[in-house]
Amino acid sequence: MKSADIAVIGGGVVGLACARALQRTGRRVTLIDEHEIGRGCSFGNAGLVAVDHILPLARPDVLGGAFRMLADPLGPLHVNWASLPSLMPWFTRFAMAALPSAVDRGTKVLATLLRDAVPAWKRLTSSNGHAELFKSRGYLTLFESPRSARAAANENKLLKDHGIRFHALSPADIRERVPALTMKMCAGRYLPDSAYTTEPFDVVRNLGRQFAGDGGEVIERQRVAGFTIENDAVRGVRLRDGEILANQIVLAAGVGSKQLAQQLAIKVPLVRERGYHVMVADEIHLDTPLLFADRGFVATPMEAGLRLAGTVELGAAAPNWQRADVLRRQASVLFNRPHLTETSRWCGDRPTLPDYLPMIGPAPNHRNVVLAFGHQHLGLSLAAITGELVTDVVQGRTPRLDITALSARRFGG
Ligand SMILES: Cc1cc2nc3c(=O)[nH]c(=O)nc-3n(C[C@H](O)[C@H](O)[C@H](O)COP(=O)(O)OP(=O)(O)OC[C@H]3O[C@@H](n4cnc5c(N)ncnc54)[C@H](O)[C@@H]3O)c2cc1C
Repeated sequence: MKSADIAVIGGGVVGLACARALQRTGRRVTLIDEHEIGRGCSFGNAGLVAVDHILPLARPDVLGGAFRMLADPLGPLHVNWASLPSLMPWFTRFAMAALPSAVDRGTKVLATLLRDAVPAWKRLTSSNGHAELFKSRGYLTLFESPRSARAAANENKLLKDHGIRFHALSPADIRERVPALTMKMCAGRYLPDSAYTTEPFDVVRNLGRQFAGDGGEVIERQRVAGFTIENDAVRGVRLRDGEILANQIVLAAGVGSKQLAQQLAIKVPLVRERGYHVMVADEIHLDTPLLFADRGFVATPMEAGLRLAGTVELGAAAPNWQRADVLRRQASVLFNRPHLTETSRWCGDRPTLPDYLPMIGPAPNHRNVVLAFGHQHLGLSLAAITGELVTDVVQGRTPRLDITALSARRFGG
């Protein structure tokens, strides 16, 4: 039987950031993944440290658009009719989280985390070439309709109140900054303090290499099936090929966390929120990523071409690749390129809780387990700060930021 000081379950960007941060405090860490590390949702994201995403997606305007979402299977947000009964408990909590007071609370929490997102990545990668992993050129969020431009003006006020720096852009500013874009935008904002990566998979792989190089153990292709529990502590994690005894456990298995958390008697209303990406090889020159707010996707200039990534699909079992086709069509329209050459496509499941806040902190019933999942659209953005918060909890220190709102207890059980 093997043993570890700390076992981290999940080799996505969140698990790797936790493992690396813990290792840097001198602890002996073992990371376990059921596949190859970095092949989950962290593989194909849009690559943004999305510092302006301070408003949780659970909010009245999104709730108000629910009927439109149900009606259009290819719209930016879609809910599969057939899964509606099983999603109802999640939607009930989503509706509660969309109450104005809850939105205010959630915004404050996300703003606190996102303000420190880029600095936390710099701290995590400082000695290992942050500049190679992330570009610090910022990105643009663009608003196409007058309606979304009005919403953006309200959001800008919130960003200002919460200390997120941005420059508001007029249609003329946008034309000047992005000559490749032929569709007119009503408004935009530039986020100078954000960052993006030109290959999200490399972020995970590099963290993995550094972790292994410094003596961390990586166990791939081994699914954690459950736990050996003694009184109020987990003594071991059960794998297909045996068991690993551990003093402390970090659960960071993305969408796989729900089933494991249930074994620890934690109620986790986590859903799979599917998104898609399409890579196109064409010469559309972008200096920075563009986030198209009305269409719900991002165009990021990556090493392998332009990545079109986004959309939200809830409750669908099999991928609906027409949604990826839509991403390509959207880009064709926006950049007036009728025939874009697609080189690859991908879909992945975001781990999403109904209040659009992650779950970070101690497990309620087992004193040596720390939870780190539910990062929805912000897993890459918040991985490094999550690693720091998890390390504080594991080391028995008061977390550097208030994580009360991220507690597992907020869903009862
Ligand atoms: C289209 C799209 C675009 C996105 N764009 C952005 C963006 O620009 N910026 C941003 O911040 N976020 C973005 N996201 C969200 C981000 O990708 C996720 O929040 C993030 O990848 C979640 O990371 P994770 O480590 O929690 O999960 P994952 O990357 O899914 O990792 C979880 C790991 O746990 C393993 N696992 C699961 N169950 C078990 C088990 N029982 N035993 C062992 N291992 C297990 C899995 O194999 C997996 O490797 C985007 C998502 C999508 C879909």
